[in-house]
Amino acid sequence: MQKNKFWDELKKHRSDITALGAFVVITIVAIFAGFMETPETTSSLTIATAALLGVKRPDFYRFKFGDFEIATILDGAGQFEDTHPRFGCNVEQDTVLNYAKQHGLPTAWYENGFTPAIVNTGKELVLFDTGFGSAKRENGLGQLRGILQSSGYAPEDIDIVAITHGHPDHILGLMENGQPAFPNARYVISQVEFDYWNKNENIPDFRTENRELFMKIVTPFAEKMTFVKGGDTIASGIEAVEAFGHSAGHMAFHIESNNNRILLIADTTNHYILSLQQPDWHFNVDDDKEMAAVTRKKILEMVSTENIPIIGHHMPFPSVGYVEKTSESYRWLPVAYHFNR
Ligand SMILES: [Zn+2]
Repeated sequence: MQKNKFWDELKKHRSDITALGAFVVITIVAIFAGFMETPETTSSLTIATAALLGVKRPDFYRFKFGDFEIATILDGAGQFEDTHPRFGCNVEQDTVLNYAKQHGLPTAWYENGFTPAIVNTGKELVLFDTGFGSAKRENGLGQLRGILQSSGYAPEDIDIVAITHGHPDHILGLMENGQPAFPNARYVISQVEFDYWNKNENIPDFRTENRELFMKIVTPFAEKMTFVKGGDTIASGIEAVEAFGHSAGHMAFHIESNNNRILLIADTTNHYILSLQQPDWHFNVDDDKEMAAVTRKKILEMVSTENIPIIGHHMPFPSVGYVEKTSESYRWLPVAYHFNR
């Protein structure tokens, strides 16, 4: 009897174990089946084929400079196919294209960025150049305004707009849909530059349309303008520097705070290799090519020997860097973390 009872108990127990096992298996299968059918899971499995989103450039950089803050903003970038004669129009095409190739650049095209800058002196907010504004926004340019607003500045906050020269990429953003883009600002431009366009003397033919733009966009601000020459102070710590050639009255600006110096060179050099490393090569939209080359060499020599960093409107973003003097000429050294504390 004892033996039979034992087996009966065991059989009963076994059926419990089997039932429990079946329950666990069914539950796991059910969970797994549910898991497989969850819509979120289905979509997470397809994320492996996320859409390609295209090129996105960095477009805003703010750094400390003495007691000042400086920001560079990418208004946009354009790609062009006239590497020669745009750069080195006074030398052979092969010379320029081979040089580009030797330096790892595409030869069939080049990219040019447009970089206005803001200096906060602690007393005034100074904007250097205005980008393309609403006029070219549908082409992906004219981004300054939107980036300004998302970076903690409002167009109404700008106290001074300094125009380095009167070419379209620097002046079009003065207006926003026919209205002043920076309604509380006063304006600074070099006297020579203003007179050059206003008097319409010795303007090259290829600048005819540019002259019309200048008269339409810049001259209406004349009453609010200060006309400066080299050595004039435009705001505390900021001095105008004559850098003529790219245009008749093209200006650079020397910025100094707490013994830190930086030179905003505007369009003194327009490509970090094909112009900065070859300052004698003519840039075919320099209005006075000989004078521009002389200015370029003078400024590159100064900033390289005195180790003054520069902000260049058409240097690769963030458009801040040093110029190193080499045995042959000069070399662009983009900023790294130099000014991040
Ligand atoms: Zn320019």
